[in-house]
Amino acid sequence: MTSRPTRILQTSLLAALLAQTGVAAAQSVDPAVLASLEPKFSAVQPKMVAWRRDIHEHPELSTQETRTARLVAEHLKKLGLEVRTGVGGTGVVGLLKGGQPGKVVALRADMDALPVAEQSGLPFASKARQLNMGAESPVMHACGHDGHTAMLMGVAEVLAGMRDQIKGSVKFIFQPAEEGRSRKDDIGKPVGAKAMVDAGALDNPRPDAAFAVHIIPNLPSGMIGYRSGPLFASGDVIRITVSGKQTHGGFPWNGVDPIVASAQVITALQTVVARQLNITKEPAVVSIGQINGGNRDNIIPATVEMAGTLRTFDEGMRADARKRIVQAAESAAAANGATAKVSFDPFGYAVTVNDAALTQSMIPVLAKVTNGNAKEASKFMASEDFSEFANAVPGMYVVLGAPPEGKTPVTAAPNHSPFFDFDEKTMPVGARALAAMALDFLAR
Ligand SMILES: [Zn+2]
Ligand SMILES: [Zn+2]
Repeated sequence: MTSRPTRILQTSLLAALLAQTGVAAAQSVDPAVLASLEPKFSAVQPKMVAWRRDIHEHPELSTQETRTARLVAEHLKKLGLEVRTGVGGTGVVGLLKGGQPGKVVALRADMDALPVAEQSGLPFASKARQLNMGAESPVMHACGHDGHTAMLMGVAEVLAGMRDQIKGSVKFIFQPAEEGRSRKDDIGKPVGAKAMVDAGALDNPRPDAAFAVHIIPNLPSGMIGYRSGPLFASGDVIRITVSGKQTHGGFPWNGVDPIVASAQVITALQTVVARQLNITKEPAVVSIGQINGGNRDNIIPATVEMAGTLRTFDEGMRADARKRIVQAAESAAAANGATAKVSFDPFGYAVTVNDAALTQSMIPVLAKVTNGNAKEASKFMASEDFSEFANAVPGMYVVLGAPPEGKTPVTAAPNHSPFFDFDEKTMPVGARALAAMALDFLAR
């Protein structure tokens, strides 16, 4: 009720904006079709909740999502979609051909869980365990991918029921391993979105645009956040080995101390963002999160290993930062007579950039489909391999605010926490947004 005046204001502003930009209303999806999505998704909400709880109770680590993939594939087949399984590992691609010829739009959900011991206290909390890098580990859907999968299954069901009204095709991409690797066999190989793209997920037919949504607790419940340009940061794993010469702790002059050299390497790395990158262009982060060296108080070890992360919002700054990290580490080590060997893991995530024209065209659609509850979001320092799809075809990624009942965007547990949960009542909003963006894109 209280949102009504805002809605009217937004609608008239939009009308003015549309008139100004010369975008005729006839080019977007029929408003009656958009309006019909609300009851349709209310009707599939109990199913989406059931799927979500089932997937939540049976989470699977990255590239091990066989049960989830089977559930998805069976559902898509039952809806009459053309289904491909085993795409880039456990990936599933479903193609819904509309009643009329037209463009192709892709919708993507990720299916994998994390090696986290669930403490949410939910009645359907996970007790699952799987091998994580060779060691048995608890598994939990701590990033909302159970919700993403359930929402996209709901979208497939609703759009399959509207087949005759659809001009073009909708490609449903259910992706494994967004969170990276859980099997030793996957080290050094592409997984997730990259593996799916390599396996032809975007071929036959090639989408003209791709959309996805991520559940986050840091926006009010049911709010969609959008952003033109970079939304999620690039993510690179930095590995540094500092080598010196082993010696007795009492006689450091007989060796080269890699511990002191490492301390200076870490300090030198702080200047990459603070002193060397032009952070007025885009923010960036360099963090060292892991350091290992030595096994006794009175022995200076031969080497120290450390690992960290580089995050940027611009591919040029990313390449520049990588060079500067190498230079800073090598020089700081050399000043101590030690050496530093820096490497970056292959398959780092690129910046997730939302296509500006696509985002602009979807703002009125999101406003309508959320009843005015859509706004521009801030950038996130998290990274996402949706960038693989968005680097291949124009992409748009949105976030869905979903703090669980009784929590706020401030008090809700963040993604990847053992206490993470989300408000299931927001699933129809996320699903409507995906469906509406797809229908609107195809109608243009
Ligand atoms: Zn995550
Ligand atoms: Zn995630």
